[in-house]
Amino acid sequence: MCGIVGYVGRQRAASILLEGLKRLEYRGYDSAGLAVLQPGGLALVKSVGRVAALSKLAAARKLTGTTGICHTRWATHGGVTEANAHPHLSSDGRIVLVHNGVIENYIAIKKFLLTKGYTFTSETDTEVLCNLIAYHYAKETAPAAAQAAGVNPQPSESSRFLTSVRKTLLHVEGTYGIAVLCTECPGEMVAARKGSPLILGVGDQENLIASDVSALVSRTQSVVYLKDGELVHLTAGGFALSTLDLADVSPVIDKVTWDVNDAEMGAHAHFMEKEIFEQPTALENAMRGRFSADGSSANFGGLNLTPADFRTIDRFVFTSCGTGWHACLVAEHLIERFARIPVEVDYASEFRYRNAPLDRDALFFVISQSGETIDTLAALREAKRKGYKCMAICNVVGSTIAREADGGIYQHAGPEIGVASTKAFTSQLLISAMFALYVARMRDLSFAEGIEYVNGLKAVPDLARRVLEQAPHIKEIASRYSKYNDFLFLGRLSLFPIALEGALKLKEISYIHAEGYPAAEMKHGPIALISPECPSVFFVPKGELFNKVISSMQEIKARKGLIIAIAPDCVELPEGLADDVITIPDCHEAALPVLATIPVQLLSYYIACARGCDVDKPRNLAKSVTVE
Ligand code: GLU
Repeated sequence: MCGIVGYVGRQRAASILLEGLKRLEYRGYDSAGLAVLQPGGLALVKSVGRVAALSKLAAARKLTGTTGICHTRWATHGGVTEANAHPHLSSDGRIVLVHNGVIENYIAIKKFLLTKGYTFTSETDTEVLCNLIAYHYAKETAPAAAQAAGVNPQPSESSRFLTSVRKTLLHVEGTYGIAVLCTECPGEMVAARKGSPLILGVGDQENLIASDVSALVSRTQSVVYLKDGELVHLTAGGFALSTLDLADVSPVIDKVTWDVNDAEMGAHAHFMEKEIFEQPTALENAMRGRFSADGSSANFGGLNLTPADFRTIDRFVFTSCGTGWHACLVAEHLIERFARIPVEVDYASEFRYRNAPLDRDALFFVISQSGETIDTLAALREAKRKGYKCMAICNVVGSTIAREADGGIYQHAGPEIGVASTKAFTSQLLISAMFALYVARMRDLSFAEGIEYVNGLKAVPDLARRVLEQAPHIKEIASRYSKYNDFLFLGRLSLFPIALEGALKLKEISYIHAEGYPAAEMKHGPIALISPECPSVFFVPKGELFNKVISSMQEIKARKGLIIAIAPDCVELPEGLADDVITIPDCHEAALPVLATIPVQLLSYYIACARGCDVDKPRNLAKSVTVE
């Protein structure tokens, strides 16, 4: 969580930093701060609340410096106060830094530093970092002292700065992405990462550092994705990359393929709305170039496994967190249904600790939009530690998970900024459907069934457009239901995970209590909640379970529960059973989860808007969860 931006260049840093920070607000937004090295000394501005509040304070100051760092916080240690906001300054006033992550041994470090006379003004774990760097900095021989002692070659202030950061990080347990300034080294910055994302932006007479490329693309499209254990020393004219144990690293400069306009809201009221409506394009991008020439199967360039490798796999294990976990459940359903290979789904946070017994020939998959989710990354590392191959489905190119996986599938959904995932989720569903097809065609799915499946998926973007055309109808429904404080979402088979997703969306952005259940489970407990005050959203399937779901709806109606039905346009619901109906076009079974998701995204979105909620920045949440 939390967003970091750092700038070293020839322009005034403050406005560049604040513009970048605004784009990282989805990562955390309880407080924000900025530090700029200026001719007159260090300028430090902090405020509780959003980046907009910080910008106001910054505008009132004369911030002319060309080197600076800033941070938008998602508190882990210490409440939301100005004192706990970053940047943090060492008690000797020399070292200032921003941090993303958790320093697990901060108590021991703090005790040590207190004995050395360093003092603390915040409750954060972070503050030990700046004081420990300051401690090492003070211990390193200053250039003047070295000259007096005749030491040759004499160390420079910048090597003293770099060494003190390096020595500090060798003592630190936990996770960090940091950007550090030293008042005695104007025009320089040191940044390092372990477990939290950090990206270097390579500009013309300027270099930047940020938690995410979206904060960099307005300045440069040349980036270096830092790896864990790497440290970079930046000046306006260049940068040097090394490891904590002093080995030089030759940088790999990647080009970002999207620009700043992709991360703008345009005419939409919220990023979430924009991203819901971008789904047809995101779905097209997920499929582009990924069907076989004969039109009966899928192709993935990055799996790094041959069909023969796939023949030996007797189980897939999918892990993820939050919305991605719902995508795993859909993958489970589709792979088991079409490819007849068993699939196990686990929460990444549980998998990493529960030491599950695993089949010898299992193949792992992790799903993460950002590719930085710490629990998912840890699950991937655990699977690899046990000697399993691990694939990743990720949206962010070059992210840690994408780099550490043995192979994988990029989503190409474009930047997703709204905290509640929408287009990234449906793109994960579509990719799961394509992957199920890929393995099914290696097993028992016939050529003709493959053709039908592919055509079914190719139709999805246009069908999604048709669902989106119902936005005004769904908005009107939302306006009538926004006053309720409890909801049930009920679905079966591949629509059960969509029921979970619908409930999660509503909880996340409108703070309404909602639960997702398999529709038939409703009578084993949740039915006790049914009253005119607790509406149910039913996903109605066509086919063999249609009558079963209708019976569940009747049971709700008999108890005066309100019903919103999401049903394919090819079925006829009993007159008066549903209070409101949202139809989705009839489609291939593998496409159904994608199309059924869109109405609940819109419903949640409009309900949250009607309740006046801050849709893109829901309370307590941040998008990319990079702390445990
Ligand atoms: N642990 C730090 C704090 O609470 C940083 C948290 C974060 O990464 O968002 O201030």
